[in-house]
Amino acid sequence: MRRIAVLTSGGDAPGMNAAIRAVVRYSIYKGLQIFGIERGYKGLIEGDLKEMLIPSVGDIIHRGGTMLRSARCLEFMEEEGKKRALNILDVFKIDGLVVIGGDGTFRGAKTLCDAGFPVIGVPGTIDNDLAYTDYTIGFDTALNTVLDAVSKLRDTTSSHERVSIIEVMGRNCGDIALYTGLGGGAEEILVPETKHDIDNICKKILLSANRGKTQSIIMVAEGVGSANDICAQIHEKTGLDVRATILGHIQRGGSPTAKDRILASQFAAHAVQCLLDGKSSRVVGIRENKIIDMDITEALDMKSKFNESMYELTKILSI
Ligand code: ATP
Repeated sequence: MRRIAVLTSGGDAPGMNAAIRAVVRYSIYKGLQIFGIERGYKGLIEGDLKEMLIPSVGDIIHRGGTMLRSARCLEFMEEEGKKRALNILDVFKIDGLVVIGGDGTFRGAKTLCDAGFPVIGVPGTIDNDLAYTDYTIGFDTALNTVLDAVSKLRDTTSSHERVSIIEVMGRNCGDIALYTGLGGGAEEILVPETKHDIDNICKKILLSANRGKTQSIIMVAEGVGSANDICAQIHEKTGLDVRATILGHIQRGGSPTAKDRILASQFAAHAVQCLLDGKSSRVVGIRENKIIDMDITEALDMKSKFNESMYELTKILSI
């Protein structure tokens, strides 16, 4: 292992820059030459690689987004695209690759691993939708961004005695809604992992309103459906003043939290060390506070890690 490369792919996440910095610095410290690939798999098949030096990653640890930029690349999903990628890696004499991204990025990495090229995956996505790891890079920052918004919405929601429906990201994973529901004191959390009954929700909101509760916060994961639709249903059934807020891409931005910077640095160094140890087809993660690596196929096959007890606790605390 003499020359390695790093790319970020899929949705960007705060902390990706801290991960790039750690891949670059750890590699150089270990005597490797390191290349950055622009725009994920798109840059890989187009040969958009540049050598990274110690100063290349200066002053980025605190910045959101990704300095290597990210892109979705359909061409890479075709056999021809994969061949082009392998050819570029050969031309640049790259011996191993670190990919930072989510589920799709790892599926892409797996196709390179299956072709015999050493790749290690680092989980970077605000969605926290990878079952094999307790946390992904960017999730904690997104939680803090959402909680800040929930606090602000609480001010206006209670002043006007309203019901606030807040839609958050997460694709088919309800973790952002769940964690911010608990941390933000939501009355209800609607996530794709469990069924909900809109009539029961309305009954509970009306009971609370009759008891003198001046506001209700309902967190909705995007995988459940549209906050606007849920807002209309609740208004129709209760007659209460209900407003929907869709937080959208603001959840992807911002300076990464301490947790995300530290996690990103540890994951990235571990990934480079995996390559140095001759490992391939592995993804890095954290379980019970320990940095781990596991087989990429096994990791992708793992089912949801939805935290039932956290969900139940939110229900108890919102009585
Ligand atoms: P996030 O969950 O944050 O959006 P992601 O990594 O899941 O991140 P995707 O857009 O799903 O984001 O995937 C990123 C890229 O990975 C795709 O544009 C494509 O180039 C590649 N990719 C995704 N799935 C596959 C696959 N099954 N085979 C080969 N490449 C894939």
